[in-house]
This record gives sequence, structure tokens and C-alpha cells, in this order.
Amino acid sequence: MPTAAAVATASFKSLMEGLGKLATAKPYAENAALVTDLMEKVSSMYGEYEAVTESQAALKAELASFKNFEAQKPDYVRTTEDSGVVTYKLKAPEEPSEEAIRFCPNCFLNCKVSYLQPNGETVRAAGRNGRWRVHDCKSCNSTYPYNFLQDRPMPQPFSGGLA
Ligand SMILES: [Zn+2]
Repeated sequence: MPTAAAVATASFKSLMEGLGKLATAKPYAENAALVTDLMEKVSSMYGEYEAVTESQAALKAELASFKNFEAQKPDYVRTTEDSGVVTYKLKAPEEPSEEAIRFCPNCFLNCKVSYLQPNGETVRAAGRNGRWRVHDCKSCNSTYPYNFLQDRPMPQPFSGGLA
């Protein structure tokens, strides 16, 4: 994507060259061709101008969201869950209910704050007698297993006699 300044400079130069020829051209047929050429140049310049304007609006929106994130960033701290998974949490939760809230590390590195939510599924915790709850990030579709769930003890077969 060329910069707005480069587009404007190149387009204006070509436009001014055309106008210069128009000013010195004599026969009408030659003028008509020059006018058509200039109209095409103006039209293409407008297209370039629109494209640059759109990309500038997108950049402004991106910058605003980045500034917003930079302002919020100090409120969060990286944390390691019981499974070893890294997440982010609030540095100073105001409510006790906020203490368990975790945020997606993948989104955080992309300057976005996204909640992690348990999706109701579990995965077997290797080498342990239980499972991890699986948490989803709805924003980037990552999943994170953490928050240990102990297996319920199997009911023991009745083997004893009456005491
Ligand atoms: Zn995410």
C-alpha cells in the first residue's frame, strides 16, 4: 500500500503534465484525447485516494484499540495454572468472584483481552488421578486445560462380613 503522500505526488505530477499539454495543444482532436486522458487520471486518482482513506481509517481504529490495551495492560499479571498452562489474571481483583477469572495468553500477546471460559469438557491429566477442565477462548478458539478435577473414587465391591 503506497502512502497517501506518494499517491498524491505521483498523481498530481501526471495530472499537471496533462494540463500542461492541454495548455499548449492546438487542434481540437488532440485536446479531446487529452481531456479524456485527464478524466481517466482524475478517476484513478480518486480510487487511490479512497483506498488510502480506507486503510488510514483501519489504522486509526487499530491504533485506538492498541492504545486502549496499553492503558489496561498494567491491570493484568501473567500466572501459571496448576497444569502448567500460562494465563493472565487481574492483578488486583475488586470482587472475590473476579479472582478465578482468567484471560487468554494468545490474545493478550496480540494486545487483546479475552475471557477464558470452561467449555464443560475435561481431559485426562497425565500421571495424575484426575482430569483438567478445558477452557475456551471464544475470540481465537484456543483451548487451555487447567483446574484439576480429582477422579471420584470407584465404589469398592462389598467384601467384608458383618462386624
Ligand atoms: Zn484467545
